[in-house]
Amino acid sequence: MPTAPAQKTEIMTASKAEPALKYKRVLLKMSGEVLMGDRDYGIDPVTLDRIANDVKEAVDMGVEVCVVVGAGNIFRGVSGASNGMERVTADYIGMLGTVMNALALQSAFEKVGLQARVQSAIPMQTVCEPFIRRRALRHMEKGRVVIFAAGSGNPYFTTDTPAALRATEMNCDALMKGTKVDGVYSADPQKHPDAIHYDSVSYLDVLTKDLKVMDATAISLARENDIPILVFNVRKPGNFAAVLRGTGRHTIVTDRKR
Ligand code: UDP
Repeated sequence: MPTAPAQKTEIMTASKAEPALKYKRVLLKMSGEVLMGDRDYGIDPVTLDRIANDVKEAVDMGVEVCVVVGAGNIFRGVSGASNGMERVTADYIGMLGTVMNALALQSAFEKVGLQARVQSAIPMQTVCEPFIRRRALRHMEKGRVVIFAAGSGNPYFTTDTPAALRATEMNCDALMKGTKVDGVYSADPQKHPDAIHYDSVSYLDVLTKDLKVMDATAISLARENDIPILVFNVRKPGNFAAVLRGTGRHTIVTDRKR
């Protein structure tokens, strides 16, 4: 029967077809607070494992992932300075906190079968690799998750700006900003239930309306380099991959026509 084999081929092709990936390489930015889970301080192992599984799901889809993590769960320079500590020293402590979080993430990633490397902007060669752009690119091409630690290596920054910087340096297609809420709203949705969720906003809107997506420097850097920022709820299991597939709720910050 001539028709039967043709039908079979068609079905096989359809089942093998991978949906085209819109974002092939992304940077995931998480604040340190995400790692706390429901705790008041530090790192929650259950949350860490859940994040590792979420990142694995994205890597298994064929997405190259790098990560920038903050240290709000351990130490922030501004709070140290407000308690009388010299600001630069306080910021160094903050940056060292991001290295601790990065090492914890590396370990969790390896536990779920991912290959991971930490690269620190402050060299500490017995603990992790120093930041070397070309080496980081090679890791990512090989499917390894690269975690960028110690922010920019400079005081007077938060980790938002180095997240935009690394996303640019790594030629990422998107900066994924993982937060507590599923996007950008006209007001705080936890205080104002009638707040409007935006599907898309421009960089200028974020800056002029002070929409608190990321630091102004980070937004400007992403704007100059035309890197879309996808704001999504990173606490919801499976949401990272869902947003990458285009099914998870999020807000995109971009000037591109959609
Ligand atoms: N930090 C810094 N330079 C950088 C990045 C971070 O000095 O390039 C310090 C700063 O003190 C900051 C702390 O590291 O408060 C932790 O980063 P962040 O506040 O961004 O953490 P998050 O709020 O994302 O958890």
